[in-house]
Amino acid sequence: MTKKSSPSHIISLLLNGLFLRCPKCNQGRVLRGYLTKADSCSECGESYEGLNADDGPAWFVMIFVGILLVPVLITLGITDAFPMWGNVVAITVFTTGFTLALLPPTKGIFIAILWYMRQQK
Ligand SMILES: [Zn+2]
Repeated sequence: MTKKSSPSHIISLLLNGLFLRCPKCNQGRVLRGYLTKADSCSECGESYEGLNADDGPAWFVMIFVGILLVPVLITLGITDAFPMWGNVVAITVFTTGFTLALLPPTKGIFIAILWYMRQQK
């Protein structure tokens, strides 16, 4: 097992992705703006060309938020805590909030994984 494929290296790589840091130098940012991938690292110059996450992060977040939504829907369905319009507002805020919060770190993780796979070639 090489250093670059050790579990600690991979966990470090995923944490860099989670915090939107460059997978190579751990300093620069992989995104400029909310979801736009940077062309290269601002610190070390590592190119992110070809590291296209496409719709992967969006699909992953949709599935994950959907799983999180099930207990919320069940709880709102069996309790009369809110009126119907309150349930709609609560579900909308929950779903939108989690989706918007999870998209950038998920994209950072996808880019880190793609960068790692490119290094293995
Ligand atoms: Zn860098």
